[in-house]
Amino acid sequence: NVSAPTASSPSPDKLLGGLLSAAFDESTCQSRYKSNLYRKPSPFPLSPYLAKKLRKYESYHKKCGPGTKRYRRAIKQLKSGHNADDSQCKYVVWFPCNGLGNRMLTIASTFLYALLTDRVLLTHVAAEQEGLFCEPFPGSSWVLPGDFPENNPHKLHIGAPESYANMLKSGAIRSDVDPNSVPASSLPPYVYLHVEQFQLKLSDNVFCDEDQALLAKFNWMILKSDSYFAPALFLTPVFEKELAKMFPQKEAVFHHLGRYLFHPTNRVWGIIRRYYEAYLARVDEKIGFQIRIFPEKPIKFENMYDQLMRCVREQRLLPELGTAEPAANATSAKVKAVLIASLYSGYYEKIRGMYYESPTKNGEIVAVFQPSHEEQQQYTSNEHNQKALAEIYLLSYCDKIAMSAWSTFGYVAYSFAGVKPWILLRPDWNKEVSEVACVRSASVEPCLHSPPLLGCRAKRDVDAAAVKPYVRHCEDVGFGLKLF
Ligand code: GDP
Repeated sequence: NVSAPTASSPSPDKLLGGLLSAAFDESTCQSRYKSNLYRKPSPFPLSPYLAKKLRKYESYHKKCGPGTKRYRRAIKQLKSGHNADDSQCKYVVWFPCNGLGNRMLTIASTFLYALLTDRVLLTHVAAEQEGLFCEPFPGSSWVLPGDFPENNPHKLHIGAPESYANMLKSGAIRSDVDPNSVPASSLPPYVYLHVEQFQLKLSDNVFCDEDQALLAKFNWMILKSDSYFAPALFLTPVFEKELAKMFPQKEAVFHHLGRYLFHPTNRVWGIIRRYYEAYLARVDEKIGFQIRIFPEKPIKFENMYDQLMRCVREQRLLPELGTAEPAANATSAKVKAVLIASLYSGYYEKIRGMYYESPTKNGEIVAVFQPSHEEQQQYTSNEHNQKALAEIYLLSYCDKIAMSAWSTFGYVAYSFAGVKPWILLRPDWNKEVSEVACVRSASVEPCLHSPPLLGCRAKRDVDAAAVKPYVRHCEDVGFGLKLF
């Protein structure tokens, strides 16, 4: 006979300065309050304005979320074949694309967009993503109900006639009239916003004031993206003021939103907690290496390993090897843990072997761990994604991180941690080896790989990094943009 669970309300310091809601029962999602105890305190204070905005959003979500009368009414409108004038609730429905890191970055970007445009965020949770994350909003759900009428992910592509850009082209909506003079009910029942990169550019007609005014008229928006488009929202003039209030420190956007939204379920938290307590809890320092080899840009094992070791030496990430064993009376040495995240086991084998066979010069002990080596990336396996999520979290508990260029998996981990990583650069397109082993990231923000066109209707391509003081080009993706 199991005794009834006691509802335990978390203490205020567990709420990360007001980032987290107090309205949850702690036992239903332990990671929400426990995960941060594995990290150093955040170096980025939360703006009280953002905390207030999140509480306001939560009550809006509860009012309009699935299962409410308002939701049912909105679905009726969606089925009616046209948009409506009188809506109490507006929605943005997120559809997945690519791997877990990409998904987390785009969910956070879509949530930020929802906050800025007063929309309720709903997420299409595919089987491989089921049971990974706790519900982020109290008393409601962010999971798109299965009977949602526009539930076909195959319809969402660059050529979809319902996409905003294509509706402008086909004349289904007009860009040459004042949006204020357009009755909302004259518009189609929903708009599809395609924010996927094409030739490393985000689609036109998204991050411009004129387009946002028109997009705001739709009660239903369906959005699919493969990009961390939060920086592009900062480049849209109409959002600038509000964003400045929410994020006085612009480099902490994903750091805060990610820590607010993503909490592994108790099942995944079990994996994380067991591993952390077994291997990482008692060490003096934790150093994470994330090695990601992209199929479209393969790098030979020896070259990648050499580059990692060059980075380790140049940045003094690990103690040097010595020849002499420490004296018999040496006092107990510091232990450094190296946590490796990679689909392959070779890096782990070599680094572990190195510190197994030789002592270190300063007597420090180096313990090397790798939670899994899945060999293949499997976007559609739930078990595989549980491990990927666990490893993103374990990496995010590290004090120092070195990661592969271009990897959204790594971006999420360092951004959660609030740690500026060393990025192992990709070799130039015509080279096998990168001349520079690694560079330190300027901020803890993820990189937007594919910047939008800033000139908007004028179709001028303006370099955002040259005109906006708060974005710069990414260390690993020259044309990419990163808040800092
Ligand atoms: P990106 O492709 O590096 O930007 O990161 P994504 O997370 O979007 O996609 C890569 C996917 O491959 C992950 O979600 C995992 O499924 C898998 N993967 C890549 N590296 C690792 C790793 O180190 N550990 C585990 N468990 N899975 C990985």
